[in-house]
Amino acid sequence: MVCVAFGCHVGTGRTFYFPLKNPKLCAEWVRRVGRKDFVPGKNSYLCQKHFAPEMFLAPEQNVDSRGRPRKRIHLVEGAIPTIFCDKAGRMPKKRKAREPLCLSSSVKASQSVVDLDHDYAESDRRSTSVEVDQKSKIDRLTKENDRLSVLLNKTFNSDQLKALDPNTKKVHAWSEGTLKKSIAKLLMCGPTGYEHCRSEGEPLPCIRTLHSHLAKINFEPGLLEDMFVLLSQEVARMAEVDKYCCLMIDEMAIQSCIEYDQTTQSLIGHPTMLASSAAASDSLATHALAFVLGSCSQRRWKMMVAYEFTGKSFCAQEAVRLLGKIVSRSSQIGVLVKSLSMDMGPCNQAI
Ligand SMILES: [Zn+2]
Repeated sequence: MVCVAFGCHVGTGRTFYFPLKNPKLCAEWVRRVGRKDFVPGKNSYLCQKHFAPEMFLAPEQNVDSRGRPRKRIHLVEGAIPTIFCDKAGRMPKKRKAREPLCLSSSVKASQSVVDLDHDYAESDRRSTSVEVDQKSKIDRLTKENDRLSVLLNKTFNSDQLKALDPNTKKVHAWSEGTLKKSIAKLLMCGPTGYEHCRSEGEPLPCIRTLHSHLAKINFEPGLLEDMFVLLSQEVARMAEVDKYCCLMIDEMAIQSCIEYDQTTQSLIGHPTMLASSAAASDSLATHALAFVLGSCSQRRWKMMVAYEFTGKSFCAQEAVRLLGKIVSRSSQIGVLVKSLSMDMGPCNQAI
């Protein structure tokens, strides 16, 4: 014996026999089942899954004649089955919106044979009240949805929201705003912190994307204006004490050669800072001079703000001019250079 519903081969949960003693209700069940020429017998039943949740007695009503709670679930009076498989044998995902919920659940068993008109009136009244209920529920949910959308939009850009959606594939083009925000985050948290945020599900571009984006910033010898722009974003979040910094000058030996720089599309390798002596301008650079700003406080930050290629020696006056530019540009963005540090090479001593 199986459940009589079309396509339902394995009954699950409780089973409910056709209400043969209530011909009108039984006829409704038969109509809902929708099988051609189907006549229910005393063994015909439907399984529990064809009844919507509201067709069952609430726990507090599901009691026996002595008022003790019953173990098994029971249908309300006049309950009708509303959930059936489609032709392909699939159960519906959600109930049809306008399905009347119950024909006459409040009518007692003794009054169950009532005239048709009354029954439909009852059903109409119920479905209207259900509609009102649902409408207010929809209104409430729409308002809640709007409120949450506003909150989400405050925190995330639209491309980030798209990335949050599990149905979207990888985001290929991050917006300028998101990239800027993410670079700032990477600077603040460091790569480990940044990757942690990503692993927690925050919609952020991967570090490689940020690096390839950063490769686009202007990085020609001299004052690195783009780095000051980046630094100024960070300064905005700094405490007053963290804005004091030290300017460090460091020299590093580089391999002398001429190379083609793809980002600037030019040949590099010659000194970019004038030599002190009248050295030949076609000589190759042997050193790189890096100018780095770093914090003096507990909060660690540092940023390279200028660099030059030099020969064996360089013009100290030229270097001093660059130092002056760095200090004044720093104070423009709110960073105060309080000290200068460098090793004691002969050129440095000249500065
Ligand atoms: Zn079934």
